[in-house]
Amino acid sequence: MIHHHPADDLLLGLAAGDLTGGVSVLTASHVETCTYCRERLRTLEIAGGLLLEDLAPATLSADALARTMAAIDAPLPPSAAATTGARLPPPPEGMKWPQALGDCTATAWRWIGPGMRWSRVTVPSDPAAKVFLLRIGAGRKLAMHTHAGMELTQVLYGRFHDGRDLFGEGDFDETDSTVHHQPEVLASGECICLAYVGGEMVFKGMLARTLGALMGM
Ligand SMILES: [Zn+2]
Repeated sequence: MIHHHPADDLLLGLAAGDLTGGVSVLTASHVETCTYCRERLRTLEIAGGLLLEDLAPATLSADALARTMAAIDAPLPPSAAATTGARLPPPPEGMKWPQALGDCTATAWRWIGPGMRWSRVTVPSDPAAKVFLLRIGAGRKLAMHTHAGMELTQVLYGRFHDGRDLFGEGDFDETDSTVHHQPEVLASGECICLAYVGGEMVFKGMLARTLGALMGM
């Protein structure tokens, strides 16, 4: 059961092909598993179609929405599906990487602290985007931090609580500089998230800042 969804501006941006690569990968990785957001996208597509009639042709091609929807609906070509696993670190048993990561490459899991590993993800259309996978052990906490810009998180596996709410598999979270949080993985099992950080992550405390520097955040 998915409880947390991307806001309409992200869904609209995805439909219009308007999002930068990192934001697009995060949003698409949610939509591909969420029936509610797929329906919402279709509604926005209809609304967008009406809106497009009022826009200058140079702003958006009339078939941009249709093409994006077709791309979201289309299964991965066999060649891409076959190579996705090889270019991403091994997921835990029974978990698959989102199709949205199909074009991306990622480093092997790297140690950043006890029970914590991360992998830097490179999005070909937006190589500078700070996109990464976090793999945090059962009961572990991330350092308390806030953000200089937008932070997007898609839960791929397991569950965490960050003092505001519980986020489980399939849930999407958007935070910014108004949110100070400390995600803590539930004791029941490890958690893997796909994350995008638009600005700097601002950690409290020296050890946390060192970890932040290690991750290039
Ligand atoms: Zn959703």
